[in-house]
Amino acid sequence: MSGNDVRVSAISAITNSTPYATEQTEPLSKIWACDVFNLAKMEECLSKNAFKAIKNTVKTGAPLDSATADIVAAAMKDWAMSKGAKFFSHIFYPMTNATAEKHDGFIITNSDGNAITEFTGSLLIKGEPDGSSFPNGSLRMTNAARGYTAWDPTSPAYIMNTANGATLMIPSVFMSWTGEALDKKIPLLRSNSAMNEAAQKVLSLMGEEEIAPLNSSCGAEQEYFLVDEAFVNARPDLLLAGRTLFGAPPAKGQQFDDHYFGAIPERVQVFMQDFEDQLYRLGIPAKTHHNEVAPGQFEIAPYYEAANVAADHQQLLMTVMKATAKKHGLVALLHEKPFAGVNGSGKHVNWSVGNSTQGNLLDPGNTPEKNLNFLLFCGAVVRGVHLYGPLLRAVIASAANDHRLGANEAPPAILSVYLGDQLEGVFKDILAGKINATTCGGLMDLGLSQILPFNRDPGDRNRTSPFAFTGNRFEFRAVGSSQSVSGPLVAMNTMLADSLNWIAAQLETSLSKGADQSTAVFEVLKTIMEDHGNVIFGGDGYSSEWHKAAVEERGLKNLPTTADALPAFLDESVKNLFDSTGVLSPVELASRYEVYSEQYILSIEVEAKLVIDMATTSIYPAAMSYLAELGTAASAAATFGAPFNNDLAIQVASDANQMMSSVSALKDAIAQHDFDSTEDHLNYCANTIITLMNEVRSYADSLEQRVADSAWPLPKYAEMMFIK
Ligand code: ADP
Ligand code: MG
Repeated sequence: MSGNDVRVSAISAITNSTPYATEQTEPLSKIWACDVFNLAKMEECLSKNAFKAIKNTVKTGAPLDSATADIVAAAMKDWAMSKGAKFFSHIFYPMTNATAEKHDGFIITNSDGNAITEFTGSLLIKGEPDGSSFPNGSLRMTNAARGYTAWDPTSPAYIMNTANGATLMIPSVFMSWTGEALDKKIPLLRSNSAMNEAAQKVLSLMGEEEIAPLNSSCGAEQEYFLVDEAFVNARPDLLLAGRTLFGAPPAKGQQFDDHYFGAIPERVQVFMQDFEDQLYRLGIPAKTHHNEVAPGQFEIAPYYEAANVAADHQQLLMTVMKATAKKHGLVALLHEKPFAGVNGSGKHVNWSVGNSTQGNLLDPGNTPEKNLNFLLFCGAVVRGVHLYGPLLRAVIASAANDHRLGANEAPPAILSVYLGDQLEGVFKDILAGKINATTCGGLMDLGLSQILPFNRDPGDRNRTSPFAFTGNRFEFRAVGSSQSVSGPLVAMNTMLADSLNWIAAQLETSLSKGADQSTAVFEVLKTIMEDHGNVIFGGDGYSSEWHKAAVEERGLKNLPTTADALPAFLDESVKNLFDSTGVLSPVELASRYEVYSEQYILSIEVEAKLVIDMATTSIYPAAMSYLAELGTAASAAATFGAPFNNDLAIQVASDANQMMSSVSALKDAIAQHDFDSTEDHLNYCANTIITLMNEVRSYADSLEQRVADSAWPLPKYAEMMFIK
């Protein structure tokens, strides 16, 4: 038996496999949302009044009365049972990036011992999972173990099918007994209404008479890697941590730039078609798919939807992606950095806000009046990113995303805004007083404006910016591939709400002093530029000059690690932001800091243990058996009186020895549990533990490049990235 048996059999299994084909011949019109209990289905089976009530709730978030809830529940049950469902589940989104479910049967037995089915409005509305095992950041200790899930009627229920049956899934919020948010959905819904309230104020000050409820929208581009399951099973690091903790760079990586938008391998296409077919059935508008930059890396982007629905769909998309990949003998890696040395994966969150009366407020309009609204909303975003940049950094902080941010492939860990040349020019002219109420007013009379028409295609995209205006939306590009989009959406909606409230107050003051509307608007915009214009940056975000200038000249924060970023949650200004907008109470906010810190520390600890384990039980033995082989060869050479060069053996012995010394140091390091504060513990992980892990890795990777291929136990980078 040789050391590379596992690799050899994995490779032969892959080369002998045929794509897993399913018969997806049904037209889109037939499968689209067929497993979703959406408004169209409700209209078919509800009375006119009941439908009107639920539609109003879905469209405007208005509360639903219990009688209607009962009617909807009964119709939902009948629909689900007609699709084969015997169980239902409230599906919710705890503070981790996970999705959670608790399944219950429709069945009850009556006194005669017969089984009947029941599903009342109260069962639909409220569930009681045993919440005590979800991370709660101390919220639960004060409130005992009880947690509730509650139906979110604004996100449609759907059916999840397996080979053996179907389950009705009901999107829900998750809260403690005393009503504190234990999940990611409640803050998202609250942030939407805070944004709506603030936007209404601004729009009515702008003279808008009819203003429909505003909602935020989200279109998320999801990057991921596909690796054959046989390789993953042979790599405990991929299996348990989702990324390779060892691995020498292959001779060929992404330097040829030949993978981006390249031809998609057939096996991957077959997977994508199967995956998208299921997404369509679930009403998820999958729109674009293509290869990404790194070998074995791909992207899928659904069409944008209301943020709350998009967030639920994003979670579901990740679940379906993983399950479908498995059917095809592949593993979908959503980790931000599965392989060192090639690009990691992000999730660009495209975000805008709008309503049915004013449209998308981040879309420059065709009239100067509309452009004033647009400029105010854009200015509000600029102010928000400047004031709450560290918060935006904190909501995307994780052990995994730290490998991307600032690594010259993903946006830097400094939050700046890219507006594009044209819009940046407009804001600079406003700052300089070149565009003001007089120039704009004069031009408006002529039906023209120098700020009009905006070029909707911003032309050049700045891929080095973490937060970019892209024509009719902002794209938050620093979000990690495995993360829930809710955290970023909450932060963006809330900072926008705060800015719009501030703008409304300024406008109100000016207007009450008799200023005309456009004077008031340009005054506000000028102040925003004076106080916050520093955050606008259109240059190369990767350059070291920017890193220096951002911090030293512009006073922006560079927060390279999660340990640097998470304390933003403790900041007084962030506490006030969430408290004043009603999005998160101080206790709820503090619990998020605790949960995210705990997640970070746990993931570093798991990785450290894996490093110790793999180095000791797999890499060291491979090195030793190869050393023994070299020893045998040396003796053979001596027997024949032939020359023999000992350099390789010495290098292998030395690498192996130093690797094991670093392993010991790492073992001692993770035994340390005594910390004065969570912050100390975070910093210890970010600095001491990760440094030692990297040290072990450097010796291990050096061994990989020296030990005979036939003796190496772990699938290599080239194999995992290129063999499909
Ligand atoms: P690119 O790769 O050029 O950024 P993609 O087409 O891959 O563009 O993805 C863009 C994403 O932005 C899609 O999900 C798209 O639906 C979404 N999007 C487009 N317009 C808006 C908008 N107004 N608000 C939010 N998301 C949007
Ligand atoms: Mg993109």
